[in-house]
Amino acid sequence: MPAIREITLEDNVKITRHFLAVVLVIAAVLVVANYERPPLGALGGGATPAGPEFVLVAHGGAGAYKNLTPELLEARRATMVRAIQKGYEILSGGGPSLDAVEATICVMEDSALFDSGRGSYYTREGVPEMDAGIMDGRTLAAGSVASVQHIANPISLARLVMEKTPHVMLVSGGAEEFAKSQGIELMSPYYFYNEREWQRYEKARAAAQKKTSAVPHEDEHGTVGVVALDRGGNLAAGTSTGGTTMKMPGRVGDSPIIGAGTYANNASCAVSGTGVGEYFMRNIVAADICERVRYLHVTLEQSANDVVMKELAEQHGEAGVIALTRAGDVATTFNTDGMMTGTVRADGKIVMKGWSKTAEPMIVPAVK
Ligand code: ASP
Repeated sequence: MPAIREITLEDNVKITRHFLAVVLVIAAVLVVANYERPPLGALGGGATPAGPEFVLVAHGGAGAYKNLTPELLEARRATMVRAIQKGYEILSGGGPSLDAVEATICVMEDSALFDSGRGSYYTREGVPEMDAGIMDGRTLAAGSVASVQHIANPISLARLVMEKTPHVMLVSGGAEEFAKSQGIELMSPYYFYNEREWQRYEKARAAAQKKTSAVPHEDEHGTVGVVALDRGGNLAAGTSTGGTTMKMPGRVGDSPIIGAGTYANNASCAVSGTGVGEYFMRNIVAADICERVRYLHVTLEQSANDVVMKELAEQHGEAGVIALTRAGDVATTFNTDGMMTGTVRADGKIVMKGWSKTAEPMIVPAVK
């Protein structure tokens, strides 16, 4: 049996040391467990403070609005208002900007009135091939699809790519296989047929055959896009399109290219573009507008102006963008004949404008 001895001063020091070591380990474990990784968007060090409210801005494409019939113009305006009201409902209920972007775009895709979803322009082969992209400004997560032919809501498929796959972009058959695996119905080509679009296609095809112009100058570009800021101060952007008139089969535009036609980063801004996608891709337009805000500390308005009205205009690149910061600053900038946009803030009033350079804004009262 070991002899019992008195505790010495040395023993006391040892016990205290062990006790302190155990306390330190427990404290470290607790700190690590409670550490919440900051969102990627805030890691850049340039995160701008969020504004006090929520905002949603939608566009219905930049281009030659003077070529649209008054009936189509009116129908597009009414549909945009309905779409924006849907997004507003989500944001005012405290929902995330991503949900608002997707829901707003779906209404326009379903309407068959825009170059997007059901109303998509046809390729030279007379079938639609759609592109869409979506991005979360909080996490920099992004998803996109390109050249899909049977998807009613490409923007929703883009979101699934973002949330359910390790990838950013899926194209064509692979994207449609993925859609099936997610329970999305593949639509027959008849779903995308409409007389107005067919007539437009026939006219463009005849012009191309006569070689008067392969791509009519100042086309309408009815692409749709939305940027939104939610009550949590998070930005999101999305764009959905059938592409340009008489595009070659397999041609992919800027809308699904993250940084070209679609971009969102809480550290700078959210952008959705419309116009001739090749210029957006060569000039990485959406990301460039955001990075100018972030690194040059210019206003959103100036950044959008410098890119769209100077750089793209000098290259004869028809373009328009909607852009939004966390402070609630909005830019709707276009170098074409028009770009219809609608903006809603917390008061629920929708400000519609842009169907011509001089059009007086139309205020749609809040729904009670
Ligand atoms: N940017 C789209 C594309 O090039 C077309 C458009 O906005 O009208 O595919």
